[in-house]
Amino acid sequence: MTAGRPLTTARLDAMAERGLRSVQVSLQAVDAERSDRIAGTPSFDEKLAIARRTSELGLALTINTVLHRHNLDQVPRLIELSIELGACRLELANTQFHNWALRNRAALMPSREQLETASKAVQAARARAEAKGLTVLFVLPDYYAGRPKPCMGGWGRLALVVDPTGLVLPCHEASDLPGLEFWRVPERTLEDAWRAAPGMQAYRGTAWMAEPCRSCPERERDFGGCRCQAFRLLGDASKTDPACSLSPDHAIVVGARDEREDELVFRR
Ligand code: SF4
Repeated sequence: MTAGRPLTTARLDAMAERGLRSVQVSLQAVDAERSDRIAGTPSFDEKLAIARRTSELGLALTINTVLHRHNLDQVPRLIELSIELGACRLELANTQFHNWALRNRAALMPSREQLETASKAVQAARARAEAKGLTVLFVLPDYYAGRPKPCMGGWGRLALVVDPTGLVLPCHEASDLPGLEFWRVPERTLEDAWRAAPGMQAYRGTAWMAEPCRSCPERERDFGGCRCQAFRLLGDASKTDPACSLSPDHAIVVGARDEREDELVFRR
């Protein structure tokens, strides 16, 4: 996965020789002016160069675009550009408002109309894209969906993350949650760190849930949503994800749909 820099085409060639099989390139928009403005730095040309070289090398190319109100209108052109670049997959990833995106939520929040227009554009283009070998993924953001996603397929259920220090986590953000103990490899075996670390067990399954999740028929589908989102928005990771319309705190998410700020705040 690359933002197109500091990777160079020469380094990409070298990695392909060593067996690299797939590359995901992030694009912020389909034109340099907007892409560079959203990225906060001139980078569009480098991204395209890496994407083109990936296809020339015969590697599988994925284009990933994080969508928000500054680029949702470009969805049809993103599909066309991905076809032109020879991508096999386009991930149209509506912004998840975590970390820096949460700081910028009011500047990034799309309108429902924007989302519906983009969704229709994807449906209209899907058959042509697939005929060209491009799979397009588009999922409604949970601030508008009324139900949370099963974050990471459920805490400690399907996926793990090993951070650069060896800490074994259920997701990238979980180490930010207070009071949870995770274990490291190689001090512990990966199996131990996955099965038995207290933090890994904290929200595994459904036994930890309070109402309304505890008695909800959907608890085995979404596992109560995202623990990190519950913590960021409510200060308590054990609460129902407020993206759920059944959450007593859902008004926080509904109210955020109408927030508007013009300026993005960049991380430097
Ligand atoms: S109440 Fe809990 S289990 Fe039910 S849909 Fe909402 S988040 Fe999912």
